Amino acid sequence: MKALTWHGTHDVRVDNVADPKIEDSRDAIIKVTATAICGSDLHLYNGLMGGMQAGDVLGHEFMGEVVETGTDVPNLNQGDRVVVPFTIACGSCFFCNKSLYSLCDESNPNADQAAEAMGHSPSALFGYSHLLGGIPGGQAEYVRVPYADVGPLKVESDYSDEQLLFLSDIYPTGWMGAHNADIEPGDTVAIWGCGPVGQFTIRSAWMLGAGRVIAIDRVPERLKLAHDKAGAETINFEEQDVYEALLEMTKGYGPDRCIDAVGAEAHGQGDPEAQRRDSGSTEENHPEALNEMIRSCRKGGHLSLPGVYTNAVDNFSLHALMNKSLSLKSGQTHMQQYMPPLLKTIEQGLIDPSFIITHRLPLAEAPDGYAAFNAKKDGCVKVVMTP
Ligand code: NAD
Ligand code: ZN
Repeated sequence: MKALTWHGTHDVRVDNVADPKIEDSRDAIIKVTATAICGSDLHLYNGLMGGMQAGDVLGHEFMGEVVETGTDVPNLNQGDRVVVPFTIACGSCFFCNKSLYSLCDESNPNADQAAEAMGHSPSALFGYSHLLGGIPGGQAEYVRVPYADVGPLKVESDYSDEQLLFLSDIYPTGWMGAHNADIEPGDTVAIWGCGPVGQFTIRSAWMLGAGRVIAIDRVPERLKLAHDKAGAETINFEEQDVYEALLEMTKGYGPDRCIDAVGAEAHGQGDPEAQRRDSGSTEENHPEALNEMIRSCRKGGHLSLPGVYTNAVDNFSLHALMNKSLSLKSGQTHMQQYMPPLLKTIEQGLIDPSFIITHRLPLAEAPDGYAAFNAKKDGCVKVVMTP
């Protein structure tokens, strides 16, 4: 079959690889009908994530049709239409029992490597390095889904793939990003990053009762999307000092809730290190957005961190976080917890997630999709591919 494979920094290719097979009685094989490129994939593309091997199949945002199931997948039948969560979870360990699915203790076969790096292993993720399982991803014609009795969300409505696909990651991620900020009615919520995750975080913040949403980025069409389509006030961090602007907008207090939807590849104003990182020549994680949110948040405020970090971060403003009594929640999204209720919000007409799509490509052109999404050029906000 054809699949998008990683070969090194800025080197992804559509290769012929072996068809996936059922390896466990709880597996299913899915024929992929739609798959997207995520900001998390860019961290792999730009060489920030350890544990990658040449030939790894990428992709963790996908949906499709069930073509085969193992003997212990009673919930799925051939032909069922499913959206697959990017976190792989067994459904019955200590963490799954608490609905903390991205912390599943059973799904990462390389848990010892992840524990070496972080103390404990989170769950396995599709197409996201051998550290997180080495499980081939879904930017492919077919994909093996482990624990298919737990993960895939069966959809029986006739919503299009484009309307449902983002239940596989970025809609629940934006939702958990906003939920983790503990928004109280009327709160002013500031969100760093107007990429796909930021856009869903803005919409989720409104649904969770925010009184004001302020969105920060430097890419004009992303700021425009946040402003015109999602009702956010916006700050372009290349034109304004973000801290000064936020204080002015909040009578000197700072926003009540602050969310980092940027992650490891944050840009800083005129920062030479950030420029070097633009060329993909360093694997450093960048704390610019993280520190700016800590500096700007009102005292006693809550921070949420859906943005992905892949390494320790130097110059983290821990002193400000501590002395300002800020609290911080984070995590890969506990997908299986959020998918069913968020499907309902689509069915109720509260949101149509397809608003985010700007580029539609065949899988064969995936390398062009990665290049465009990484460069944030040609108005590229979200790429959807069809195998
Ligand atoms: P993206 O790269 O498209 O968007 C990031 C945005 O941040 C860009 O628009 C960029 O211009 C902006 N940005 C850069 N530096 C900034 C700064 N200093 N201040 C404000 N904005 C800045 O990526 P995305 O798909 O939106 O994903 C965003 C982050 O969320 C990534 O780190 C991704 O890995 C992460 N993510 C996390 C989860 C999870 O489970 N927690 C799931 C999906 C994605
Ligand atoms: Zn993703």
